[in-house]
Amino acid sequence: MDAKRAAQVMAELQKLYPEAKPELHFRNPYETLIATILSAQCTDKRVNLVTARLFPLYPDAFAMAKLTPEELEPLIKECGLYHNKAKNIVAASRALVGQYDGVVPSTREALMKLPGVGQKTAGVVLLAAFGDDQIPVDTHVFRVSRRIGLADANTPEKVEQQLRALLDRDIWSLGHHLIIWHGRRCCHARKPECERCPLNAGLCEKHMES
Ligand code: SF4
Repeated sequence: MDAKRAAQVMAELQKLYPEAKPELHFRNPYETLIATILSAQCTDKRVNLVTARLFPLYPDAFAMAKLTPEELEPLIKECGLYHNKAKNIVAASRALVGQYDGVVPSTREALMKLPGVGQKTAGVVLLAAFGDDQIPVDTHVFRVSRRIGLADANTPEKVEQQLRALLDRDIWSLGHHLIIWHGRRCCHARKPECERCPLNAGLCEKHMES
């Protein structure tokens, strides 16, 4: 797809979801980091329920670093993958205390050295907590952008590179949210609702093939 059509896709999605914004709840970079680690293979709604109880008890890296993973596990169990998530959250909190005086670093390089923080989580934290232009590729962005034809690579990292090359930098962050909203509300993993999708009139490559 060329840049002009990609911009039309973004414009259609903006019309459809004028209120698109992050659906995870957080108030500072530390909460953003923890909520994003918890959100792997879990709904934002469930993460929000868990963090509403967790953050008042353990509001920062210093408090969380004092826990053992075993103590944290029951508090985050509902989010799934809780064994690994607890291990990573405690280890990341200890690293923040030990190396950054409890402050979440604002560079991708430093973030990705923290336990449990990969390309996507680092991108979400940079975007949501620090206002960077980023277009992190989660499961929705990966699926939907490939269906539409905004990307065709077969890994999230390569899809992110393609989206960065195709889309204007000033739409990256909003585009991330727009594509996620579309994936959650219309272009579902199993049964995309193409009949009511505004991209079905010549903008979505998957729809044009079928
Ligand atoms: S036309 Fe169908 S496949 Fe394409 S973006 Fe819309 S819902 Fe998804």
